[in-house]
Amino acid sequence: MPILNRAAELQNEVTEWRRHIHERPELLFAVENTAAFVAEKLKEFGVDEIVTGIGRTGVVGLIKGRGEGSRAIGLRADMDALPLTEITGKPWASTTPGKMHACGHDGHTAMLLGAAKYLAETRNFNGNVAVIFQPAEEGGGGGNLMVKDGMMERFGIEEVYGMHNMPGLPVGQFAIRKGPIMAATDEFTVTVKGRGGHAAQPNRTIDPIVIATQIITNLQMIASRNVDPLRSVVVSVTKFNAGFAHNVIPNEATFAGTVRTLDEAVRDQAESRFRQIVSGIAATHDAEAEIAFHRNYPVTSNHEAETVHATQIATDIAGAANVNADIDPMMGGEDFSYMLNARPGAFIFIGNGDTAGLHNPAYDFNDEAISHGISYWVRLAEQRLGE
Ligand SMILES: [Zn+2]
Ligand SMILES: [Zn+2]
Repeated sequence: MPILNRAAELQNEVTEWRRHIHERPELLFAVENTAAFVAEKLKEFGVDEIVTGIGRTGVVGLIKGRGEGSRAIGLRADMDALPLTEITGKPWASTTPGKMHACGHDGHTAMLLGAAKYLAETRNFNGNVAVIFQPAEEGGGGGNLMVKDGMMERFGIEEVYGMHNMPGLPVGQFAIRKGPIMAATDEFTVTVKGRGGHAAQPNRTIDPIVIATQIITNLQMIASRNVDPLRSVVVSVTKFNAGFAHNVIPNEATFAGTVRTLDEAVRDQAESRFRQIVSGIAATHDAEAEIAFHRNYPVTSNHEAETVHATQIATDIAGAANVNADIDPMMGGEDFSYMLNARPGAFIFIGNGDTAGLHNPAYDFNDEAISHGISYWVRLAEQRLGE
């Protein structure tokens, strides 16, 4: 079964919505206008219940089926943009310098709106469909806040599904895997406190730059000598600040970065080794190290049975040759992980074709993907809630 006819008919209208949202990017939780646009559309479609302000600026619409039953399936999109200046030159490019939809969340929101319109028209299912529009995916953990606000209980959501576009994957294709699909994204900042002094008398100092650089080099032991080589870990130091003159050894050096892992045991191991290495090397050289280690988004891990359902629906729509059911996991993060920790579900990638990469100022969501995305959402809801 290819793309649904009705989804193809919605293509132009949904493209307009997508470009409308694209022109007006908003960041993190400050997605008020996008949320208002979503709520207005849901009202227009005759969605039964529309709740705003979940997870600060999130929106949930509840669409009731024809049949009996109160089981609900959650379909989730994200609404926030990124702090980048767009260079696509497209007629619908961002009108705000320093903000752009460089991760395609405009497309995710528009496709889920298209599915909501379809499902509110047809209602060929028992129970309820909850369409979830979250703020602050790009840092901020809006998905986590929505879960904490009791969204799952309030709407009786028993399963939850997410979708993200993937540049490089041809339009019309899907990719997914059981188990971990995106990484935990922990963040650290370390301040090495030594004793500054004259650069010509290093013996009278405790040089924080030499000590910090040794720590950074040794942190690579976590990947090369601590974690099982068959498991994944990334330790990247992405910032280093110290000093102000050629002839002065400073008091302090600061560095920061991220640790990425695909399972909780490796995550714990990486953090514990991180702390030992930093404190141990600092102590060896008589310095002190202040460690701020922040556990950010958890691993996005697809549940087995729900991944089978999602794969089946993608295969129905795109054909088996166009579904990769065992894509390699990615070391990027996703705060849909919080929803998957709260309820069983699955996160799938949809092809965005040969476009610039995510978070690139030349990126644009590919509108050709819209009817594929809508078809996936609609069939998934209808199949899971039994036509
Ligand atoms: Zn992103
Ligand atoms: Zn994204």
